Amino acid sequence: MTQDLIILGAPGAGKGTLAVDLCPALGIKHISTGDLLREVIASGSPLGQEIDGYVKSGALVPDDLIGRMIKDTLAADACRQGILLDGFPRTIPQAELLEKILADLGRPISAVFYLSVELDRVIRRLVNRVSCQQCGRPYHLINLPPRQAGICDVCGGVLRQREDDKEETIRKRFATFLEKTQPLIDFYQNKNLLVEVQASDDPQVALNFVLKYLAR
Ligand code: AMP
Repeated sequence: MTQDLIILGAPGAGKGTLAVDLCPALGIKHISTGDLLREVIASGSPLGQEIDGYVKSGALVPDDLIGRMIKDTLAADACRQGILLDGFPRTIPQAELLEKILADLGRPISAVFYLSVELDRVIRRLVNRVSCQQCGRPYHLINLPPRQAGICDVCGGVLRQREDDKEETIRKRFATFLEKTQPLIDFYQNKNLLVEVQASDDPQVALNFVLKYLAR
């Protein structure tokens, strides 16, 4: 059965960490709009430079731009077996657009997993976060360090800290979450799609919870 899933949560809630283990387990495609945007930024194009301005300041990239990007991505063959959306939708208009795109494809959302987290914990997690430049796997320098400093355990890629993982920008991103993204909790609760995931610093706890929920 095709599973189209969403992970919702503030920056640093553990969305990416959950996604990198959950997607191979379910055989579905991980779509992180943050990763897609960082690819455009890395291209150095005028669009990339414009996007970089929003990301660096901790603000959201405008809905129309994200909307175009996500439409193209979801139409790709690689998404046919199911998708896990990480970092999208982040606003009510994005959620409405997603509903329309998936309805046109005849694929309803199966579940929205919500990872809740407080600001203090987010700061502790993100200032110590590094991720692989090659495969995107996230690490935490204290709680989940790589076996060899600076090198990804899985693919041998170089680990790097994100430019927007600085305390001042993290605070801004968290405030943006509260203002723009938190309303999606009610939005999906009203549709009976919201599943609150047990909070824990151990990524395995969230993974087991979600797998158990999906197998029920
Ligand atoms: P993330 O990797 O999900 O933490 O996203 C990093 C940054 O990319 C965010 O702080 C936003 O500036 C931008 N971004 C990612 N996804 C979206 C989205 N769905 N809508 C608007 N901006 C986004």
